[in-house]
Amino acid sequence: MVIKNPEKCEICGKKRVITLGYGPHYFCDKHFVNFFETRIKKTIRKYNLISPKEKLLVALSGGKDSIVTLKMLHKFYSKRNEIKAIIIDEGVDGYRDKAIKLAIKTCKELNVNYKLISFEKEFGITNDKLMPLLIKNQKLGGTCAFCGTLRRHIMNKYAKKMKMDKLVTGHNLDDETQSFVMNVFNNDFDRLLRMGATAGVIEHEGFIKRIKPLYETPEKEIIAYCAYKEIPHYSQDCCPYSYTAKRNEFREMLNNFETRFPGTEFSILRFYENLKKELMPSKEMKIEMESKLKKCKNCKEPTQKEFCKTCEMIEKLKTEANKNEKENQINLKNKKPKSKKVNLKENEIKNNSKYNKKLTCSTTKYKK
Ligand code: SF4
Repeated sequence: MVIKNPEKCEICGKKRVITLGYGPHYFCDKHFVNFFETRIKKTIRKYNLISPKEKLLVALSGGKDSIVTLKMLHKFYSKRNEIKAIIIDEGVDGYRDKAIKLAIKTCKELNVNYKLISFEKEFGITNDKLMPLLIKNQKLGGTCAFCGTLRRHIMNKYAKKMKMDKLVTGHNLDDETQSFVMNVFNNDFDRLLRMGATAGVIEHEGFIKRIKPLYETPEKEIIAYCAYKEIPHYSQDCCPYSYTAKRNEFREMLNNFETRFPGTEFSILRFYENLKKELMPSKEMKIEMESKLKKCKNCKEPTQKEFCKTCEMIEKLKTEANKNEKENQINLKNKKPKSKKVNLKENEIKNNSKYNKKLTCSTTKYKK
C-alpha cells in the first residue's frame, strides 16, 4: 500500500491544495482539475451517455452545476456533437433574472445557441404568483416538486421541438443520493427506478432521454473546480421558495454523514446501481408500460392518463388561485384585507435569511 503524504500532491509532489476525504486524495490545483475532468469523461463512457453526432440540449440555469456541465460538453464534445442550451425562467423576481443573465452570457462566450422559455409564456403563471398558494395550502403539493414537474415538461417538449437527441442536466452525486434517500423515505418505488445517469425507465419517442454527466461528481468538487478555473456562476442568493423543500433535510443529513464518514455518498450510489440492476422491469414489462402511453388531451405530451401530470397540476392551482382571489375580494369588501396575509408571507419567504443560510447555494463560495 502506498502511503500518501497529506501535505503534497499525490501525483506531482507539489504542495497540496485540496483533500478529497473519500480517497483520501491529495492534489495540487492542476491535478485536481485533471482528476475532476477525467471522472466526468469516464462517467459519460461508463454509462454510454453520449454517442457521436447526437444533438445535445443542455438545461442551463446559470448555477454552478449546469454551467460546468455545459463547459465540459463544450470542451470535450463540441467537435462531434451539436450542443444547444435551454434556459427556463420560472418567474422568481430578483433571483432568476440574475442567474439567467449569467446563463446567457456563458452561451454567448461559448457560441452556443440557446432558447429562453418562461413559465409565464408557456403556462400563464409564475412561481411568484403560485408559490404563496402552495405554501399556504400544503395539500396541493410541494413547491419544488411542482416547479420541477413544470421544468421537465418544458425541457421534454422543447427538446422534441428543437429535434435534439438528448437532454443534459447538471444533477450531481449529492442530488442523486438525496433523491435516493428521499424516495426510500417516501416509499416512492417508481421514482426510485427512474433515477440514474440516464433518467427514466420507458423508452418512447415522446420522451427525450435525460442524461447526467455529473452523476458521479460530488457537489463540493464542482464548487472547488469553479474556483480553480474561475468560472462565473450564479451563487449569490437561494431561490426564496427553496426553504420549504423537504430535500433540505436530506441534504443536511447526508452532508453530515459525508463529513463524518467520507465516501458515504459513493456507497449509496453504488448500492443504488446494484439495486437497479435487480429491480428493473423486464423487456416485456417495459413494452407493456410503453403500450399504455397516450397523448395528453390538453398538451399532447405522453401520459398514461387522460391528462398529463403538468396539466392536472396547473388546472388544480389555477382553480385555487381563482378561489383565493374571490376570497380576497370578499375580505376586502368586508374590510378585512386577508390578501395582505399572502403578501406578508411572500415577503417573509423572500427575506428568510435564517433558512437561506442553511442551503447549499449560499455555501457555494469556495475560497482557494
Ligand atoms: Fe423551483 Fe424549488 Fe428550484 Fe425554486 S428552489 S427554482 S421553487 S425547484
